[in-house]
Amino acid sequence: MNSIYHDLDFGITCIDTQHMRDNFVAAYLIEDNGRAAFVDTGCHLSVPMLLATLVAKNIQVENVDYILLTHIHLDHAGGAGELIKHLPNAKVYVHEYGANHIIDPSKLRAGVIKVYGELFFKQFLGDLIPIPKDKIVIAKDNDEIILGKRVLKFINTPGHARHHICIWDEKSQGIFSGDTLGVSYREFDTDQGELIFPPTTPIQFDPDAWKNTLKKLMQYQPKYAYLTHFNRIEFTQKSANMLIEHIDGFVTIAEQFQNEKNRHKKIKESLLNYLLEIASKHGVSLDEAQQVKLFKGDLEICAQGLGVWLDDSYLRKGL
Ligand SMILES: [Zn+2]
Repeated sequence: MNSIYHDLDFGITCIDTQHMRDNFVAAYLIEDNGRAAFVDTGCHLSVPMLLATLVAKNIQVENVDYILLTHIHLDHAGGAGELIKHLPNAKVYVHEYGANHIIDPSKLRAGVIKVYGELFFKQFLGDLIPIPKDKIVIAKDNDEIILGKRVLKFINTPGHARHHICIWDEKSQGIFSGDTLGVSYREFDTDQGELIFPPTTPIQFDPDAWKNTLKKLMQYQPKYAYLTHFNRIEFTQKSANMLIEHIDGFVTIAEQFQNEKNRHKKIKESLLNYLLEIASKHGVSLDEAQQVKLFKGDLEICAQGLGVWLDDSYLRKGL
């Protein structure tokens, strides 16, 4: 096991929540002038890692002011209900469309079990605990909060999910991006830089909204993206272009199999070939079996999300 956390600069710490494997799901701790905030929490089973990081860094639980949730997918927010029990002064910030689902997580739980199955839920996500309503604050577009002496700003960022927000950190010129600035595993880094692709997770993937969101975020001229999957990367226009290219690439694959039998299986196979091809062009030297292992979880979820999107667009177009 890697160490649970490592310090970046600007008072930011990346915590490996140990969900599924090392270096897969990050949560972040931001410290400023004696106050602290978590950005995302990992799942329910990740909470001991977050609390251990506070202890290791000598931060009192009373000094944590915020849990900021980029969105309510359980690898990002599933631990918030458990974590808030340990943080007497913290408030949970979330997009208005996500709030009801964390106050009463029964629908969220059912939806997740439908996608992942009961066994996966228990084994890898653990549980899902409601968050008391009085602990929740709606994060509105362009609202700013103060942590110590730094300003954090919420930005509505639909595309991966309608209820997704990003958090702009003026101090580091970075964006806490949840899933909006893509997935990029450090195992695929080469001298060409980072390989970034879109998690087209069910059930609200919206490619047009996502591309508009990227335009909006690039106006901030960020230096960094703090990705949940995984860790901080430098984020440039080239990174944004790569993500847009692969959003389009994934959509093209989905549309190609729209009316086929075994659509899900075919999309999944085609996505794998697509990812292996872009990894090869990117100069990735891992052998294919290792790459398949690293892409495996994303393939299933991305193919499901594309399937939902196909069905939704079919309805939208009234065909
Ligand atoms: Zn997500």
